[in-house]
Order: sequence, then structure tokens, then C-alpha cells
Amino acid sequence: MEKDTKEKFLKTICNNFLNLQDTDNYFRFPSYDFLIQKITSLDKNIFRIEKLGKSVELRDIYGIKFGKGPIKIMAWSQMHGDEPTATRAILDFFYFIQNHPEEFDDLINYISQKCTILFVPMVNPDGAEHHTRENAWDIDLNRDALRLTAPESKILKMVFDDFQPEYSLNMHNQSKYYGCESTGEHVELSFLATAPDKERSLTVSRKRAISLINKIVEKINALENQHIPMGKYDDKFEPRAFGDNFQAENSGLVLIESGYVPGDENEEKLRKLNFLSLIITCLYTDDLDYKKKDLQKYNELPAISEFYFDVIVRNATLNQDGKQFIADLGIKRELVWQGKSKYYYFGFISELGDLSTLKGFDEIDATNCIIKPVNTYNKSVQNIDEVKSLNYKELHKKGIASVKMDRLSLTKESTSMPLNILPIHEDWSPEKLSPATFLIEDSISGETKFIIVNGVYFPVNP
Ligand SMILES: [Zn+2]
Repeated sequence: MEKDTKEKFLKTICNNFLNLQDTDNYFRFPSYDFLIQKITSLDKNIFRIEKLGKSVELRDIYGIKFGKGPIKIMAWSQMHGDEPTATRAILDFFYFIQNHPEEFDDLINYISQKCTILFVPMVNPDGAEHHTRENAWDIDLNRDALRLTAPESKILKMVFDDFQPEYSLNMHNQSKYYGCESTGEHVELSFLATAPDKERSLTVSRKRAISLINKIVEKINALENQHIPMGKYDDKFEPRAFGDNFQAENSGLVLIESGYVPGDENEEKLRKLNFLSLIITCLYTDDLDYKKKDLQKYNELPAISEFYFDVIVRNATLNQDGKQFIADLGIKRELVWQGKSKYYYFGFISELGDLSTLKGFDEIDATNCIIKPVNTYNKSVQNIDEVKSLNYKELHKKGIASVKMDRLSLTKESTSMPLNILPIHEDWSPEKLSPATFLIEDSISGETKFIIVNGVYFPVNP
């Protein structure tokens, strides 16, 4: 296929992704049942579907093959149960192959003739169900490549040995608090051509992985018409990780980590970037020729490290034991699950002190401002509906951001309101600073400038 034709297809897919994706696939954390329902409804004339084995809690793990070409690519997701973005992209890929408009026939025939792709979505289904990184035995599967203690690890190793892919895509999510060290930007995708040994040797397979990473980065940057912050993971050898082991076994292994897009709560952009990475891999692996400048290009990807917070409040004055001092407050919001499909965020002060070298997705300048506990509403309320009927903006002006509720059946849905709900007998204790709920007061005028409730900030307009 001509280069231009490939580019044209890619562009069309990128611009029309909303019409090409699986519309059922809208929840950020697809359940195991959802995945199975999707796999079992795949057309058996297009996909070869195989049960590979069972997880600790006896959930089936599937392998799904597409294409008949000579280039073998293996892609797997969710070794870490709470890292679901790539699973959604794989489901979109299945959907696209099976339901694409006619105009993509040539593209899909091309992929099918060039490649054989083996997908293992949700390698850790028990972790996915329990929203944990580890499997049901609390084992981190990506540190189990040597001992193969967990059945899920055995399955991954067995299927890899059997298939012997030329390319492997090991798909994860990374902490949203990572950023590019040199540019200070957040990271949307990051990559790693894992090291095959302690010396981080540039083996043939690793060179292959580097070329593929460069291709994905180059194409995504060209496609999106906007700068996509992408970075590179540290390549220190980890002998217990699957990526490093498979690289040592001559598969060009690429680690793809979904990062964070500020404001994209449902990770729709990351889902799309993962999908594009899969398509680019299928389209360009027949045309990858490692050259010396590839290594340089790869090394130019910015290194990443964890230096973000959700919110940083800078230069705030705090009172502690009658003494005043100035500090920055770094707030993070942690996801807390309530049952299988509902979650909320818990905001807390993660670090306090000098955060001048660190960044917040949002930042508040609190110079000449004092951090104070919020005031509590003078009447107790009966239920959530009553809380919802309160005019929180008016309350915020009076520095009120906590409300006492009469019942013990306190539900965390309350946190969607910018008011902190307390049980009737509990008083707001400012020392806790957790959940991160406080007010920021102008020390000269005495006016409340911001209210932070459970880690989310609200400007207060006088
Ligand atoms: Zn992971």
C-alpha cells in the first residue's frame, strides 16, 4: 500500500473516530462481563477466538486473533486490573474490523494480509473486577515473569511462547501525576522499548521496538493537528517484568502507558490515542527499518517523573499551634470504589511545604492569604435532597462549606455537591485537612477568595 494511502486512511479514522468506535463502550472501566459479551459476539469468520485458561477466581482469559499475514503482533491489556484504557481501545479495534464502513475494506484487507495480531485483553480479570492492580492473590503480575506463580502469568507466558510475536504491545495506564521532566507538561502517552538485560543492550528486537515507538509518536503528532505530550519511561532493567523478559526473547516489545488528559474524566482521548497506536502498529510494521538516527529520535522523547498534583495552593499562610508559617499545599484526588460500577473521588493534602519544583493541573496563588477551616451550616439537614436544595454559592460567601446531616446513612454521593457532609455529632476538624476541605481567606480584607471541598476548588465571588 502506498504511503499516501496509509496516511489518508489514518487521517480519516482519526477525524471520524466518534463514528467508528463502539458506542456501547462508553464506561471508563469496562467490566469483565461486558468484555465477555463483546468477545462472544465477534464474528467467528473474521476472528479466531480461543479460551487460554482461567484466572485465580476462574474467569476465562481469551485470546483473539485477527489476520493471516506474516508479521506477528501480540497486544495485551490490563495485567494491572485497574488500568483499563487499552482494553477499551482493543474493543474499539474489534468493532472497527467487524463493522467498518466499506471505504475501509482495502485498509482492513491490507492489515489482514500483512499481519496476524493476537489480542489478550484483560489479562487480569479478577483485578479488573475488584479494581485492583494485583490479581486475586495480591500478586503484581508484571513482577511475576520469572516465577510465574499466578495462573494469569502462566497463561501470558504460554501464549507468548506459542505465538512468538515479532512485536509485542504491553498496554498499561500510568499515574496521572506523571509529567515530562524537561517540558513540565502532563503526559498523555508514554512509551518504553524495555531493556533485555542489565546493560540495556540494543538488540535487534529492541531496535525494532524503538522504530515502532518512533513511528507511533510521529504519526500521532501529525494526525492530531495539535501537540500531544508524550514521554519515555525509565529503561532500567527489571528482570521480573514481562516486558523485559519478552524483549530478551527477541520480541520487539513496546510498553504503552496511558497517562492523563486534564478535563477528560472519561478518558475518551486516551482511548482514541490507544486505538490509533494499534492501527499505526498494524499499518507500519511492514515498513520499519531501524537506522542510527532512530535511537537519537527515541532518546529525544522527554523522560517522565511524578511531579504533578491535582491542585497546588501556593504561598499560603497556615496557623499551627499559634504559630504562622508559609507553605504550598499539594492536593491529590484518589478514586474510591463503591461497588462495581460507581466511584467517587477523595481529595487529600498529599504534601505540604516547598512545592516550588512541582506542578498542579490547577494552581491557586494564595499569597497574603490564610488557610482556615470552613464554617459549618447552622442547621442540620435530613437528607441529600435537602443538601442539594441549598444555595452553595451563597453559603460559600459566608465561608460555609460543611453541613451536618441527621442520618447515619451517609452516602458519598454527597461529595458531588461542593459541600462537605458531616455526621451530626462530628465537628469539622481542621487539623485533619483530610478530606481536603478548607477556605482561603484574604488576610487583609478578610474576604473568602476560594473554598476547597474534597480537593476541588471553587472561586468565591463577592
Ligand atoms: Zn500497569
